[in-house]
Parts: sequence; C-alpha cells; structure tokens
Amino acid sequence: MANKVLIIGAGGVGQVVTHKCSTVPEVFSEIMLASRTVSKCEKIASKLARPIKTARVDADNVPELVALIHSFKPDCIINTALPYQDLHIMDACLETGTDYIDTANYEPVDEAKFCYKWQWEYHERFREKGIMALLGSGFDPGVTNVFTAYARKHHFDEIHELDIIDCNAGDHGQPFATNFNPEINIREVSAKGRFYENGTWKETGPLSVSRVYDFPDGIGNKKIYLMYHEELESLIKHFPEIKRARFWMTFSDNYLKHLEVLQNVGMTSIEPVEYKGQRIVPLQFLKALLPDPGSLGPLTKGKTCIGCHVKGIKDGREREYYIFNICSHEAAYKEVGSQAISYTTGVPAMIGAMMLLTGTWRGAGVFNMEEFDPDPFMDKLNKHGLPWKEIFLKE
Ligand code: NDP
Repeated sequence: MANKVLIIGAGGVGQVVTHKCSTVPEVFSEIMLASRTVSKCEKIASKLARPIKTARVDADNVPELVALIHSFKPDCIINTALPYQDLHIMDACLETGTDYIDTANYEPVDEAKFCYKWQWEYHERFREKGIMALLGSGFDPGVTNVFTAYARKHHFDEIHELDIIDCNAGDHGQPFATNFNPEINIREVSAKGRFYENGTWKETGPLSVSRVYDFPDGIGNKKIYLMYHEELESLIKHFPEIKRARFWMTFSDNYLKHLEVLQNVGMTSIEPVEYKGQRIVPLQFLKALLPDPGSLGPLTKGKTCIGCHVKGIKDGREREYYIFNICSHEAAYKEVGSQAISYTTGVPAMIGAMMLLTGTWRGAGVFNMEEFDPDPFMDKLNKHGLPWKEIFLKE
C-alpha cells in the first residue's frame, strides 16, 4: 500500500509524529513535513533514518496550503500546528479532497475558548466530499477517548462517572516552563474549570477545585486540579448515559506560584496592549521569553501517567475501573529526541493516521475517536510505545 502523508507543524508534537511515521514505511510510504519555518523541518528530517520531503507553508493561508497539497498529493494531512490553524487546514482538505487528522480542537486566536462546534459544522461538507476528518488524535484528547470506548465496549454496560486524570510526574529543573506550546498551555490552565453533571455543565474558578490522587507505578500521591478539557464535550455526546464527567491535571506548587504571579501582573492576557508604538499580546510576548518546550527534552526526568477512572454498571453490579499509560520522559527522549508530553501526543496522531490510511477506521464526515472500534487502536498503542494497563478497583 502506497500512502503519502503531509505533516503540518514542525514543533514538539510534529517532530514525534514525523519520527514515528518514518518507522512504519509499509503504511507511510512518503512523508512531507511542512511548517512556517522550513529550517525546523529540515532539522527534524536530518535526524531520520529515511529521507522525507520538507516545505515551507503558512497554514493560515488556504491558497498556499492548497498549492502545496496539489504539488505533493498527500492521502492525508496530520495537523500538528496550533489549534488556530484547524479550520484553515480543513478548508484546504475540502478543496482538495484530502483526509484530515489533528490533536486539538479549533480555538479562535482572539478568544480563549475551545469547543467542537466549529469543526463539527464541517461534517456535512466532509461527508458530501467523501473524505474523513479524525479529530483529537493525541493523548488527551485522543487515547483518553479510546480508553473510554474500550472500557464501555469490554467492561461496562453503562458508564456513570468518568474522571480523566493527566499526571506529569516529571521534572525539567527549570524555574518555569510549559511542556507544550506555552501560549496554548497557559490559555488552557488559566481558563475556568468546567465539568458535566446530571445533564448540565457546571463552572468552577480556574484551578479552584483540587484533591489528592494516588497514582500507580511508584508515582504515589499527587494533587490534581479540575479543569475543562475538550474530550468531555464529545464523550458525553457519544456516551449519553454518563452522569458525571470531569478532567483533572497535576501541577507542581512551583508551576502554580509562577502562574499566579504572571496572571496577577497581566502577563497571561491575550488582550493586546500598546508598548512604544507597537501592539503586543502579553501572552505571546511571554511565550517568547519562556523555554521552547522542545528544549526540555534532554532535561526532563520522571514519567507521565494519563488515564481514565471509570465507575458504572456491568451485569447489574457496580464496577470501578482504572486504565492508564505510563510514559518515561527519558525513554521518550532516547527514542525520538522529545520529552513524554510530545511523545504521548505524537504517537497517537501517527496511529490515528494509520487507522485511517489502512481503512481500519473509515467514514465520510467529521469524527471523534470514540466513534470507532477501540480494539485495533489499543493494539497499536502497545506496539508503538504507549502500552496501557488496567486495574479493576471494584467488580
Ligand atoms: P509547538 O509550538 O511546539 O509547535 C507548533 C508548530 O506549528 C510550530 O513549529 C509552528 O511553526 C507551527 N505553526 C504555527 N502556526 C503555523 C502556521 N500558520 N503555518 C504553519 N505552521 C505553523 O506546539 P506543540 O508541538 O507543543 O503542539 C502542537 C499541537 O498539539 C497543538 O495544537 C497542541 O494543542 C496539541 N497538543 C495536543 C495534546 C493532546 O494530547 N491531544 C497534548 C499536547 C499538545 P514554526 O515553528 O515553523 O513557526
């Protein structure tokens, strides 16, 4: 099978996706990596065992994207640029009849708000064109959606409570840094918390709800904070029996201390300010000062543990279950030159593309991960570097 893939965005995640696709030539026979800064693509390409093509593209410029797609003729595009580019790349896919995959839902630049509405609205047009979009094929969203679908398929008749818990127990030794794009990361964590309960969404103050969770594999007790995350929106749509769905993330006291000060002085704002005759967005300026997440690879030690804690009913009895992956920052760096956050996002993006290109997951329209059979994806996670474990806490 000859398949061409175009990867857009040569950042932390793009590097892992490119690396992983290059190790599966039987699925990804030709690879092109394109980004705004072509030198970043060339740097990544120079580290691979097989040749790939590189190109410069501004993914906000649809005609430029369309021209690149016409010249390379990819079978699918993996979007690892930023959420701001999602709709532009989807427009180019529609115009050229190309399948689409991403790892984060669309967010307007001038409003820190993310939801699936904008991308779901493309469903009819993708369906009519006979092409497929697979949304959110990272870890969370992505694997967490597949974990939920797997739990529902094999272990539950009904899921009643879903807690998605993202723990980064790693340490990069820097005073303050984010482990993926700082602008996107800070917009996400400084937003209000939101969870779903008994048919309605409930809001909480930013990082105002916390508790302690005991993580497996020697990680132990860590404080987790309630946040809003996009997969909650699609999971309650596709598993309407869910009564409560929440998303939690760990943060170190040090990270929170810095974030609080930056917020208090206005450095995390996305409202432009005038400075010496120039309009600057404080958060974008802050991004320029913070360490590039890509540079944290060799510095980060420890591991991540991301999973789903599920309660529900099986055969009329209450069941409680936890499914998770442990990923080592050092092992990820050794394998692909990136820390575990980029690794845990890039591997599922590659597997999502594999599902689509091999016809294992197929459909015309716009889809979320949990709409397909989880089993083949779960099998590939074990084979491509993200093995998972499950624990039955009550059955
Ligand atoms: P980076 O900032 O490291 O990389 C983003 C890349 O996108 C940059 O290299 C940048 O290019 C490129 N880019 C930005 N704008 C454009 C544009 N207009 N045209 C072409 N290229 C552009 O981010 P990450 O790799 O950390 O994150 C990538 C994506 O992954 C984000 O959407 C993030 O939200 C998502 N993510 C998803 C996770 C999940 O589990 N689902 C977890 C972590 C991240 P250049 O450098 O050339 O300017």
